[in-house]
Amino acid sequence: MTIKENAENILDIVKNSAEKSGRTLEDITVIAVSKTVDSEKARQAIKADGIYSLGENRVQEFTKKIEDLSDEDIDWHLIGHLQKNKVKYIIGKTKLIHSIESLSLVEEIDKRSKKNNLITDVLIEVNMAEEESKFGLNKEEVLPFIEKMKQFDNVKVKGLMTVAPYSEITEQIRWVFKEMKTLFDNIKLKELPNTEFEYLSMGMSNDFEIAIEEGANIIRVGTKIFGERNYDI
Ligand SMILES: *Cc1c(COP(=O)(O)O)cnc(C)c1O
Repeated sequence: MTIKENAENILDIVKNSAEKSGRTLEDITVIAVSKTVDSEKARQAIKADGIYSLGENRVQEFTKKIEDLSDEDIDWHLIGHLQKNKVKYIIGKTKLIHSIESLSLVEEIDKRSKKNNLITDVLIEVNMAEEESKFGLNKEEVLPFIEKMKQFDNVKVKGLMTVAPYSEITEQIRWVFKEMKTLFDNIKLKELPNTEFEYLSMGMSNDFEIAIEEGANIIRVGTKIFGERNYDI
């Protein structure tokens, strides 16, 4: 199967899962995660009718692909860990930054956004299962963190993101997504300053169906669109 066909296949499955939770395909943004994949392959994914977004986790690769694909209309998502000193390279280029987990990072994004006279939309990354190897805030830290956003008028918190634990046990994964949805709904109700809860980004190649059933409206799919990644290139 071609990359475009893989992507179309994913959209079919997304449609089914969305309908199970009383929604439609249009309610879900499917990000094709093109990290490690070359720009021409990345371009094939957005040929699928229904894919408008690409996701990258490294700043250098991100800015190169934006340049290579500047003739296309693409929403660019930064989904990986972001270092403060790299913020200057990406300001104004992202639809969403998914991986916010420190105030110093928010401060830098706010400062650079102000300079460029724009507002940057971000998601807070949550380490719901409290795994040592993962980035993100613990569950209890999320609300106090977002309450501090009132200081940062050039950053808007649009929701939450998580990477579920790798597990064979479906119920474990589902638990994480359910907890995320509850946390999302609770914070949304509070209508905090510089916060406009709209997006719940969760679900990857192995678990996106469960994520959608539990309320995700952004999923991030790499392997099932582009095939296994080769990190050596
Ligand atoms: C790589 C990556 C993905 C995509 O993972 P697949 O399992 O290949 O679908 C999604 N989210 C994040 C944060 C990633 O780093």
